[in-house]
Amino acid sequence: MDTHRIGGVKYECLLFDMDDTLYSLSLGINLACRKNIQEYMLEHLHIEESEVPKMCLDLYLEHGTTMAGLKALGYEFDNDEFHAYVHGRLPYEKLKPDSVLRNLLLSMPQRKIIFTNADHTHAVEVINRLGLEDCFKGIICFETLNPLKHINYMDELDDTHVLTLTESYPQILCKPSVEAFEAAIRIANMDPKKTIFFDDSVRNVASGKVAGFHTVIVGRSDLVPGADHALNSIHNIREALPEIWEVDEGNQQQMIQSLAVEATVLA
Ligand SMILES: [Mg+2]
Repeated sequence: MDTHRIGGVKYECLLFDMDDTLYSLSLGINLACRKNIQEYMLEHLHIEESEVPKMCLDLYLEHGTTMAGLKALGYEFDNDEFHAYVHGRLPYEKLKPDSVLRNLLLSMPQRKIIFTNADHTHAVEVINRLGLEDCFKGIICFETLNPLKHINYMDELDDTHVLTLTESYPQILCKPSVEAFEAAIRIANMDPKKTIFFDDSVRNVASGKVAGFHTVIVGRSDLVPGADHALNSIHNIREALPEIWEVDEGNQQQMIQSLAVEATVLA
């Protein structure tokens, strides 16, 4: 582990999934989202009602997200319209400001980035509801990996860390594909060997490990394949990963100074 101690800290970057990682699965946002996706399949794509639940799950398992699967099958619909439908009516009021998590995040010296398959609007809504709007340097979301036009969602990063994903993918790019992780690495200019990736999804964690990250499975206490650590709740991060806060004495002042000049504005 000491080989990762560069510039005073072992790790330079922390990469967080958002949904069911930064808040509990038990809030029911995930369930409500799935219900809305199934409604969209029924109402807008006119898929046979009896087939919808199984198809929704099968496509999710096969393609990373149900939406990616629907596109791969040839269904044509507007991405923004889909996202507005499935996220627009979520019970966001269940997400309350989390001052414990906020204080934990703000105390971590590393650059922190969100990596979600969800769209930008949903990501900003969730982060704002949790009161974490000043905790992250940037968001890698659906639009980042699947740009219709070159909207730069990483503007909030340093000037040098601009969106560089110019390749076009024939299908929707999303976790858990290793290509999605590789794209995220390029976009945020991360060194996976010096980055810890947190996600509640077993398969995302497995892919994160393949991509070279240190990995943490969130929401369960047992290790899963590819996970270096397991966290019952993101609130337990300090106990499970004290190395995040370990800074060499000599480099501490330099670290504090460099953090002070970094902007932490979320778009
Ligand atoms: Mg998740």
